[in-house]
Amino acid sequence: MTPPSLSLHPKSVTAERILVVAPHPDDESLGCGGLVASLACLGRQFHFLFVTDGGASHPGSASWTRSALRAQREIEASDALSRLGVHDAGRTFLRLPDAAMPSSGSEAEVAARTRIVDLLADFDPDLVLLPWRRDPHCDHRDSWLLVDRALRQADRHPRRLEYAIWLDELGADGDHPRVGEAVQVSFDVRSAVVAKRAATEAHISQTTALIADDPTAFRLTTSTIERLTGPSEIYWSPLP
Ligand SMILES: [Zn+2]
Repeated sequence: MTPPSLSLHPKSVTAERILVVAPHPDDESLGCGGLVASLACLGRQFHFLFVTDGGASHPGSASWTRSALRAQREIEASDALSRLGVHDAGRTFLRLPDAAMPSSGSEAEVAARTRIVDLLADFDPDLVLLPWRRDPHCDHRDSWLLVDRALRQADRHPRRLEYAIWLDELGADGDHPRVGEAVQVSFDVRSAVVAKRAATEAHISQTTALIADDPTAFRLTTSTIERLTGPSEIYWSPLP
């Protein structure tokens, strides 16, 4: 059964304060860059929550330590935000360990969740863009869970739109939205594609041979970038 879907223009989004949750630096551009760039032109406010440190992408590199890679990825994230037109947006780097986020209820998870609860109180978002709850990457699922728990703890109920990065390539049947779970929302982001691609390219540690001494390293493929930087951007709007 085909899930329900809507096609919208970004101008139909009325939210004024938008929290963007990125499990890794680059997800904000690949997943949400079109909508961010479009709404930035309309003067909307943004805060970006980068959940993990992104430090696991090149574990075999001898020349790049984890701390150096973490710093590089934060520079790339800030560059990407500038290219999306939100250079002055607030940002929080939680720096949880990439591919090894703390389990729910652990001391580290409680501390991270408390920071998000405080952020929700300070920024008061009326829209949260976050990863699809069953996107097939552990950090994406754990980031959804962390933010979902923080929203519940704070008793805040902004609109949510969930974006999938890996679902189409790697998802199993059970990872996809179930009947009655969510409505697909497709935004026309043609006017923002150039900015979105430029922002994606700001993540040079993930898209180029900047770190060349790790043959096992992660690299975003051209086909993945092409798939995620087209004229429309897809989200899932959860049903109550
Ligand atoms: Zn990611």
